[in-house]
Amino acid sequence: MLPATATLPEVIVLPATATLSMVRVLAVTDSLGTARTLPGAAWVSVNSVNSVKGGIDLGGTKVQAVIVDERHDVVAEAKQPTPTEGGPPEVVARMAATLAEAAAAAGVSTEELDGLGVGSPGAVDGETGMVGEARNLPGWDEPFAMGPALEEAVGTRTRLGNDVQVAVDGEFALGAGRESRSLLGVWWGTGVGGGIILDGKRWVGLGAAGEIGHIVVKQGGARCPCGRRGCMEAYAGRAAMEIRARKLKKKGHHTKLFKIMEKRDRTRLQSGIWARALEAKDGMAIALVDRAVEALGTGVASAVNVLDVETVVIGGGLGTRLGEPYVRRIEAAMLPHLFVSDRPPAVLGAALGDLGGAIGATLLV
Ligand SMILES: [Zn+2]
Repeated sequence: MLPATATLPEVIVLPATATLSMVRVLAVTDSLGTARTLPGAAWVSVNSVNSVKGGIDLGGTKVQAVIVDERHDVVAEAKQPTPTEGGPPEVVARMAATLAEAAAAAGVSTEELDGLGVGSPGAVDGETGMVGEARNLPGWDEPFAMGPALEEAVGTRTRLGNDVQVAVDGEFALGAGRESRSLLGVWWGTGVGGGIILDGKRWVGLGAAGEIGHIVVKQGGARCPCGRRGCMEAYAGRAAMEIRARKLKKKGHHTKLFKIMEKRDRTRLQSGIWARALEAKDGMAIALVDRAVEALGTGVASAVNVLDVETVVIGGGLGTRLGEPYVRRIEAAMLPHLFVSDRPPAVLGAALGDLGGAIGATLLV
């Protein structure tokens, strides 16, 4: 509020990234753009606009950073590739550099951020900032104190969470689940991760709840990357789908998948490659994605039978890339397995898109 001495405050526009807690207003501009000096100087509190936070989504192939204002709107972003060597110190350095790039685009330094939240793969200890079992990250052979190292590098308080969990939290608070009290997030990507919100609160069980990828959809079925058999992820995870595709190709089956991969200078069948192969009506891609959709329908419906949530949100690299038509197909594949089939949950695609993981991470601080 302006003090009474300021007589003509029309609109004072400050950048969302203003970092001063008080600004001395000596002149204002009226609606015609004419500058007018205020009688006496007015001190205006801009506390309400000085809170900008950072968020990082750390993935196996890219580091995505965002800067959000207090309404969680993204004011700047930056993306850099995840280093392929150098181990944890190199990964932390890249994360700090990506955040600094985003912060610079927002007109602040990383030290001026009101905190940084990070979604990391692997087993994440939010208290100590330790990250272990992050097999997608280079040279991450044993647990590493990512939180303290990153906090040191960026100069602002830093909190860590599991990548899928923070993305699900983001959808619950700001995205597809914001009207719901209970939600099951299904993150369809390299693996199939999940997150559970019950009665408005995140449910982590004893720490590992939400591992929906390892719901068994077929006893004695396909080998899962986790070493067990018949898990949903063994059919629907992108890594498992790629192993299957390579095996079929070796046996002489025809597919465009690997030609598309080489053309795009990739070494892995990333989501975009599956999407292109589907568009090109590649028989193997269609068959493997159909198989994935069936497995997802079976596994997600089984989880819904236990949890009876209002909303299921489908996200993750493949889920987001394939989008709405495949969300509808998963919904249809769930129906035969739903115990209460006349009251199915809403099945929605993740609404925050590619930046959802990084935006969700900002909710940690
Ligand atoms: Zn498994």
